[in-house]
Amino acid sequence: MSSNQLTLAPAPPSEAAERVRLEVREFLAQELAAGTFTTHVDTWLSGVDPEFSRKLGAHGWLGMTWPKEYGGHERTAQERYAVTEELLAAGAPVAAHWIADRQSGPNLLRYGTEAQRKEILPRIAAGECYFVIGMSEPDSGSDLASIRTRGVRNADGDFVVNGAKIWTSNAHHSHYGIVLVRTGPPGEGPRGKHQGLTQLLVDLSLPGISVNPIRILDGGHHFNEVVFTDVVVPGDMLLGTEGAGWHQVTAELAFERSGPERFLSTWPLLAEFGRRAAATGDPAQLAVLGRLSSRALALRQLSLRIAAALDRGELPDIPAALVKDMGTTFEQDVVDEVRRVVDVPASLDSPDPLGRALAEAQLHAPGYTLRGGTNEILKGIVARGLGLR
Ligand SMILES: Cc1cc2nc3c(=O)[nH]c(=O)nc-3n(C[C@H](O)[C@H](O)[C@H](O)COP(=O)(O)OP(=O)(O)OC[C@H]3O[C@@H](n4cnc5c(N)ncnc54)[C@H](O)[C@@H]3O)c2cc1C
Repeated sequence: MSSNQLTLAPAPPSEAAERVRLEVREFLAQELAAGTFTTHVDTWLSGVDPEFSRKLGAHGWLGMTWPKEYGGHERTAQERYAVTEELLAAGAPVAAHWIADRQSGPNLLRYGTEAQRKEILPRIAAGECYFVIGMSEPDSGSDLASIRTRGVRNADGDFVVNGAKIWTSNAHHSHYGIVLVRTGPPGEGPRGKHQGLTQLLVDLSLPGISVNPIRILDGGHHFNEVVFTDVVVPGDMLLGTEGAGWHQVTAELAFERSGPERFLSTWPLLAEFGRRAAATGDPAQLAVLGRLSSRALALRQLSLRIAAALDRGELPDIPAALVKDMGTTFEQDVVDEVRRVVDVPASLDSPDPLGRALAEAQLHAPGYTLRGGTNEILKGIVARGLGLR
């Protein structure tokens, strides 16, 4: 059921979710004390640590809501929410498995063949198999249906793929991509270009695939351009229905947009700032802390309600778009507001954790309101959902 209203029922706290939250908190405190990771901003994009991902898999904190027969744990969306929230708040290195656990696995559960599910889902749940999203292309971001990468069936029924994807996060660390390609002609009319699109499950080690780095402002390598030259993707790696790629991508984006990562990317900065403001007692800093904390609490309530709606089997796509818009604006505002009231130089090499977190957040911030759909596009989705356009 799709909800085109902005009302979301309250989400009473679940005991199971609070229990797993405490377990994760204890695990993270131990890992921090052992020095296996240090806190950073925006680690769901940039904190790649396969060993850490495997540890989360061993604890049963990946594939949490999936059926046990595919390596999942049949827990609730609220329990999963508590785990993700704690990992993000601690700035833990979760980028290796993030996309696979959040959206590729659910996508396979919904559309994959039995063979695809059996082969791949247990490896994702174990924290050993990582995915990329192959949607955007040069000149096709918001206007995704204008993609030009083609998959043409050959005599064996395989797809021969040619084209290029861009902004492909962590392709250099990942095993598979779910790649949107054009396999058929567009139809007539303004929505015709949504026809003829198909999702393929692509093993990134196939011959003909090259992964070229694109560096972000802090010099880090997370993005890539992925070029496909006569790549032969076996016919049984079709995901879902040939030609139904647009519908499948839209459903996938609902998973992508609804989580707490859309307002917690700069939480490690806010937490560090909170400690500083409390220590200095500076009224200007405390005022900013109060303002940001109250927004964070409100966003969290909305985001929790979305998780609860997912648990009830609803598809709260319109509220999720709105919360992502508000959440990513918030995580950018954290950077601006903190910068105004602290007298700490922002530097990636700063010995002061606040200076380092501020620099990391500043350099990552431009991407927050772009990735997963720009805020202008999200506002358009909300307006359409409310019947305003
Ligand atoms: C950190 C990060 C990670 C990413 N990871 C991935 C990934 O792993 N896989 C992947 O496929 N993509 C990824 N992307 C790409 C991302 O999804 C696109 O950047 C996004 O969809 C916007 O597309 P674009 O960059 O082509 O901008 P454009 O679509 O060219 O938009 C440029 C500007 O025009 C505005 N605009 C465009 N159309 C309209 C409209 N109709 N109405 C109003 N305003 C409009 C946009 O809001 C934006 O401000 C990532 C991006 C970032 C920043």
